Amino acid sequence: MNRKALRIIILLATISLSGILAIQVYWVQKAFDLEERQFNQRVHVAMSNVAKEIQTLNSEANQALEPVKQLSSNYFIASINDTLHPYLLESLLRNEFDRRNIKIDFEYVIYDCFTDSIVYSQYVSMEEDKIPETSSQNKLNWQRDGHYFGVYFPGKQSYMVNQMGIWIFSSTVLFFVFIYFAYTTTIILRQKRLSEIRTDFINNLTHEFKTPISTISLSTEVILNDETLGQPEKIKQYAEIIRQENNRLKIQVDRVLQLATLDNKNIVLNREIQDVNKIIKEAIKGFSLILIERKGKIESSFSAHHSHALIDHLHFSNIIYNLLDNAIKYSPNEPKIRVSTRNVNRNIEISIEDQGIGIDRQQFKYVFDKFYRVPTGNLHDVKGFGLGLNYVKTVIELHEGKIHLESEVGKGSKFDLTLPYTN
Ligand code: ADP
Repeated sequence: MNRKALRIIILLATISLSGILAIQVYWVQKAFDLEERQFNQRVHVAMSNVAKEIQTLNSEANQALEPVKQLSSNYFIASINDTLHPYLLESLLRNEFDRRNIKIDFEYVIYDCFTDSIVYSQYVSMEEDKIPETSSQNKLNWQRDGHYFGVYFPGKQSYMVNQMGIWIFSSTVLFFVFIYFAYTTTIILRQKRLSEIRTDFINNLTHEFKTPISTISLSTEVILNDETLGQPEKIKQYAEIIRQENNRLKIQVDRVLQLATLDNKNIVLNREIQDVNKIIKEAIKGFSLILIERKGKIESSFSAHHSHALIDHLHFSNIIYNLLDNAIKYSPNEPKIRVSTRNVNRNIEISIEDQGIGIDRQQFKYVFDKFYRVPTGNLHDVKGFGLGLNYVKTVIELHEGKIHLESEVGKGSKFDLTLPYTN
């Protein structure tokens, strides 16, 4: 399956799952509202009944039509303007709530209508069957007309959540499905990337080895030709070609084997105080022939005055070589490269900048991975195995240094190396 098809499938699956999640949220919200409305209604009816019963017991003829009001989500009041005794009120409230399956603790408050002040309040746990003692209440003047009472449910919110059990369960299951989906998608994409890297690597390997192998086979045929057998000069010339190509093959194989098996555990650094500016100058010299061939140039400025650092000469030269090699390789026109060094804080900063094809920002985090090559389709045919930058990063980090990449597609790339200098 190609990358585009896979992306479309993942996108569609994400949209569907997000849709299901949104619908679930919508229904949970609806179910919560409904549950709350039912709860409020039950409390309303229960408190109205209590108010009516009290008024009936007091033989009050003028009963209020709509005695119960909800003041906030968990606070209700009932006006009775009548004699009110806590003992009676609490037993009536308990009975009514019990009957309507309102199994939640509450606090009732009795107010005096004339002064609007609280005259009594009591917390009631529905699990205990305790009714308030009458002796302490008798000290108050309950016979006075004009009381109203309020009921407050401190734990209403958690009670509502508990009532939503099945919804919470289904939402949790859905949430885990979503997490599992995200996890699986990441694994699939990672596997896909690894398989692309592997195919790319094998293609490059084949490409790199094919040319010398076919040159060698052609040269051998020429040597074995009857006509050539009598011409020692020609045989020598073709034998030389075979030797060169064989060497090239050997270097390639060694390089791949070395870099592919390399990780920071098996690099042993032999660090000595070295002049970084000098190593860079030597590396630049090594590219003079190829620059003539490619009509390119390297401009350099060495402003780092503290240019000595504790480094491994071989590995450090290799990383500069790799970066310069890339800068030339990935410049399709005449390579224009700038190399500079400077001191920043207690570090030497080395920049290698080209005006080549550049690297897409999204690829920044991958280019330092082993075997990774930026996919370019058939846009250019630059050979490589995707090992160079991984090596550069490993080596610079072993030197307590860092590598930083800045790049823009079509404009060029800049690699900054930072490492501490030694006085
Ligand atoms: P390779 O052998 O493919 O050059 P590297 O590890 O050196 O392997 O680089 C990894 C990838 O990063 C390359 O395939 C290339 O796509 C990209 N890259 C590296 N250096 C540059 C550069 N200077 N300009 C543009 N792209 C680069």
